[in-house]
Amino acid sequence: MISGNKICDVCETRKAKGVYASAVAPVTLAYCETCLEQRREPSEFLTYHIRGQFSNLNEIPLYYHPIIEGTLKAENRTLSQFFEDCAEMARKRALRNGD
Ligand SMILES: [Zn+2]
Repeated sequence: MISGNKICDVCETRKAKGVYASAVAPVTLAYCETCLEQRREPSEFLTYHIRGQFSNLNEIPLYYHPIIEGTLKAENRTLSQFFEDCAEMARKRALRNGD
């Protein structure tokens, strides 16, 4: 637990309840109570992690579904937008790597 006025790393608006292990990667982040309840992760971070882990998005394990749904719901984004973002991120990564 932390004290003070740290802001949530996910919504970047509410006061963080504390610093916890991320549900998708071995890092710790500050989460507010709402983001914890909704199992949200920072959007770009989640996209990056999912894209890096799973080349076929149809094979994302059930474990990640509530995390993705919670993150998208809070942002009013759809699953197809999320997949588009994943594809875009992969394109950018391929360009950087010169593939
Ligand atoms: Zn939050």
